[in-house]
Amino acid sequence: ELEVMLKRHLELGRRIVTEPAAHIFVGEADLRRAVERDEFVIHFQPQIEIKTGDVVGVEALVRWQHPDFGLVFPDDFIGMAERLGLIDDLGWIVMRRALADISRFSAKAGRNLSLAINFSSYSLQDARFPNELFALMAEYGIQPATIIIEVTETGLVQKLASSLDVFARLRMRGVQLSIDDFGTGYSMLKQLRLVPATELKIDRSFVQGMINDDHDRILVQKTIEIGHELGMRVVAEGVETNQQLAFLGSRKCEIAQGYFFSRPIPPDELMRWLGLDSTRREQEATAH
Ligand code: C2E
Ligand code: MG
Ligand code: MG
Ligand code: MG
Repeated sequence: ELEVMLKRHLELGRRIVTEPAAHIFVGEADLRRAVERDEFVIHFQPQIEIKTGDVVGVEALVRWQHPDFGLVFPDDFIGMAERLGLIDDLGWIVMRRALADISRFSAKAGRNLSLAINFSSYSLQDARFPNELFALMAEYGIQPATIIIEVTETGLVQKLASSLDVFARLRMRGVQLSIDDFGTGYSMLKQLRLVPATELKIDRSFVQGMINDDHDRILVQKTIEIGHELGMRVVAEGVETNQQLAFLGSRKCEIAQGYFFSRPIPPDELMRWLGLDSTRREQEATAH
């Protein structure tokens, strides 16, 4: 019984409307077929250096273009893909697509953009992971330092012992490693110290709470400090307002990502976005 209830997401023009609890049931056969036939599309969300306002990279976020239900978001199928053992195949589908696109994004931006990709901690336990990644990077002519592998704090801690060797081999080649959704897991600082991560990503729940909630604000501040003390750069996700951005900048957080700049968008839309100047970008982002 591996059916899950999906929320139905409809994309109306550039406004994304979430229809709550339209009771759609997607079974495992559906997801297997999706992986076989590659029914996925990749959206990209820009990452901005707060100090300069420059775009410095993009995060790839997968969506399932379901033939009947339309665009299905990852929270509604990643868990099932992990249970069905499809998550490795899905991970490489996303990686291939993103590697194929990143060069033209960089050309458009006039600088080398980094490419952040989310991987399940299951995939990172596999000793073959680094060599498969190095082979793909060579095939697409992408430098290792361009790639940032994101893994959630929770997944990381659960699989820490069995992933450390993979992490070490990735880092030796210069691939970057990011701890996603930081603050929502149960990590101890002692464990955190063992991870050769280059980046900490503050979960968007804290970023969104920090203006009005003292606890969230302290958490954000302390996370930035811990990240810096451990030699990592800090990324804030879910930045939606100028006020949030200003606070993060005042606390020396390096990178921001969120609807304030852009939602995750299809590759062609990102190309257009990269061609806009920063004033136009802000106007468009705040217009919806
Ligand atoms: P994540 O990696 O933490 O990605 C951030 C999520 O926050 C994305 O949701 C993004 O669309 C959303 N977001 C970004 N900025 C804002 C904002 O300003 N406000 C709000 N409210 N939300 C914002 P999305 O795309 O639905 O992805 C959800 C999660 O699914 C991701 O969280 C990631 O953990 C996972 N995921 C996405 N793509 C992949 C993939 O290719 N492989 C794996 N294994 N997991 C993926
Ligand atoms: Mg992520
Ligand atoms: Mg996150
Ligand atoms: Mg998340």
